[in-house]
Amino acid sequence: SKAKLFDEKTDTRTSFKDVAGLEGAKEEVEEIVEFLRNPDKYTSLGGKIPKGALLVGPPGTGKTLLAKAVAGEAKVPFFSLSGSDFVEMFVGVGASRVRDLFKQAKDKSPAIIFIDEIDAIGRARGKNNFTGSNDERENTLNQLLTEMDGFGTNTNVIVLAATNRADVLDKALMRAGRFDRQIYVDLPDIRERKEIFEVHLRPIKTAETLDLDFLARQTPGFSGADIANVCNEAALIAARKEKKAVGKQDFLDAVDRIIGGLEKKNKIIT
Ligand code: ATP
Repeated sequence: SKAKLFDEKTDTRTSFKDVAGLEGAKEEVEEIVEFLRNPDKYTSLGGKIPKGALLVGPPGTGKTLLAKAVAGEAKVPFFSLSGSDFVEMFVGVGASRVRDLFKQAKDKSPAIIFIDEIDAIGRARGKNNFTGSNDERENTLNQLLTEMDGFGTNTNVIVLAATNRADVLDKALMRAGRFDRQIYVDLPDIRERKEIFEVHLRPIKTAETLDLDFLARQTPGFSGADIANVCNEAALIAARKEKKAVGKQDFLDAVDRIIGGLEKKNKIIT
């Protein structure tokens, strides 16, 4: 099936409760929720609400989840697109998609726009790995910059963008009034992995004896997405064996399976 280029939904279901760990990042985005809820309070003394923030970190660490939670907590619509969607586009299409997206968000403001994999359009000129035409990528990037400069401080649309390569981005994106804030979303430490297990075990029927500290110790280097995977795999493994609840060994088997998958992808496990 063909992926939609962007979709709009009032995602009131994702909240900060769904995001485990990431305390620092959550604190920073909480401020954005406040801006969306009470713009007048913040602009009353002449201050300008930021237009954009960059979520920086490795794959699967919860950047998309966090952006959705911001929209969910502020109860505003969530518009998203992915930089990789532009890879196969004809000249002019990317720019017009960006224009449409911003128009829709402005019409429905307050709103969040989320741009995943912004590096696919926002790479610095000359360092291009984009498989489509370079002109097209630059047109799309220029349109994005134009849109961000164009909306006034009273528009109340905040753009969150995600990347795992902030170093390759065109510096023009980071200029004041654009993505001038960077929020780091790192791989979870042992305590955060335990919290992520807690979140993803909520829908799973587990044996009572499950030791989450033990599971957290067994999963160094795992991202939140990897842990979500482990929980799901464990439930499937146990179900295949016609068990009544998911037990420790099912989780260990799932961890092994995920590690096997990660090694195939050439990720480094410590
Ligand atoms: P990518 O860079 O690959 O797009 P991402 O950082 O945007 O990754 P998400 O898509 O947000 O990562 O994470 C994928 C899934 O992993 C989430 O939907 C969630 O189920 C789980 N997950 C990741 N991080 C966390 C977290 N901190 N707490 C709870 N679940 C998490």
